[in-house]
Amino acid sequence: MMVERLQTFGEITLSKQVLQALSEMGFEEPSPIQKEALPLALNGVDLIGQAQTGTGKTAAFGIPITEKVNPKFQAVQALVLTPTRELAVQVSEEIAKICKYRHIKPLPIYGGQSIDRQIRALRYGCQVVVGTPGRLLDHLNRGTLRLPYVKTVVLDEADEMLDMGFIEDIESILKEVSAEDRQLMLFSATMPLEIRRLAQRYMREPHTITVSRDELTVPLIDQVFYETREKIKVDALCRIIDTEDIGQGIIFCRTKRGVDELVAALEARGYFAEALHGDLSQQQRDRVMKRFRDGKTELLVATDVAARGLDIDKVTHVINFDIPQDPEGYVHRIGRTGRAGRKGQAITLISPKEYRQLRLIEQLIKTRIRRQELPSLSDISER
Ligand code: ADP
Ligand code: MG
Repeated sequence: MMVERLQTFGEITLSKQVLQALSEMGFEEPSPIQKEALPLALNGVDLIGQAQTGTGKTAAFGIPITEKVNPKFQAVQALVLTPTRELAVQVSEEIAKICKYRHIKPLPIYGGQSIDRQIRALRYGCQVVVGTPGRLLDHLNRGTLRLPYVKTVVLDEADEMLDMGFIEDIESILKEVSAEDRQLMLFSATMPLEIRRLAQRYMREPHTITVSRDELTVPLIDQVFYETREKIKVDALCRIIDTEDIGQGIIFCRTKRGVDELVAALEARGYFAEALHGDLSQQQRDRVMKRFRDGKTELLVATDVAARGLDIDKVTHVINFDIPQDPEGYVHRIGRTGRAGRKGQAITLISPKEYRQLRLIEQLIKTRIRRQELPSLSDISER
């Protein structure tokens, strides 16, 4: 089938209100995934959308949701599921911008936030719910959230949600949505075969849009690796921080403990960094994220809770202090930089034992990651 491509937002039937909002958001023309997904999504078909990180997948489903939801009808009509709390908030905010003139209210619902506050907000009314599966299910079980009028369901970062074992929760949630004229859409930068297969079970003749079959990562991200031994890894990192021109950076570690230890080690060496991981309270997580978004923190040290979806435009560097466990994880981590046409730098530290993992990543992304030598001390003192 030929997919009809459109060139401008104006060439597609969008309401005046949405066009106005998009223009205020600075969206001049649709991104490639938006060009392909919007006509189909607006027609109500089931969709699997795969496109690189930072290329506007949120609006690719946020715009159709905004157009489809009836502002005069006070019931939840669209549901977006995200793997992390931070992403639920971000996606809800982006949809809020898109529907600024349509009088539609999106609401983020995620674990860790006071359930009473959420119950009150739900009772007050909203038409779009963006949430993490566990907490949504909690509300469904309590009867504080009902989904009989939901017509659109989106799984953002769909593969990650299945990886995290949310599949049963998601199935229970989907059961609450009437299958009749329900539209289901999946989005991610990586769509492993399993998820395409699984999608067949829940979707009706889904259309698959693959914007980046060949290159999973955007060319705007320059990718390098350094080989280093475990013992001197923190010092190697510090040398890199000293020589790179970092606007803001996210440093990924494998474990929560690793994150805390690295933050302490950096602080002991006079660097200021903040930790983000799942053992922090939601309040702490929100505060850390806000300071980072506001540009008050230069370095965020995080587990993979920060790997998916987060869109912070000043992030110039992603550093894999620990190599990601699976190749897909690499794609998402480095995708926190190089967003919306900006440049980014991705740096991975590996030990001599980790070359195999590096090769697996290169196979997935079909790109060579350039080897670099650690900057010498004289390089640093000259700066
Ligand atoms: P993805 O989900 O594909 O990783 P996002 O939806 O988070 O990407 O979008 C990345 C950034 O690009 C966001 O800041 C978003 O507001 C911006 N953006 C999205 N679509 C457009 C567009 N058509 N024109 C300009 N900026 C856009
Ligand atoms: Mg996204």
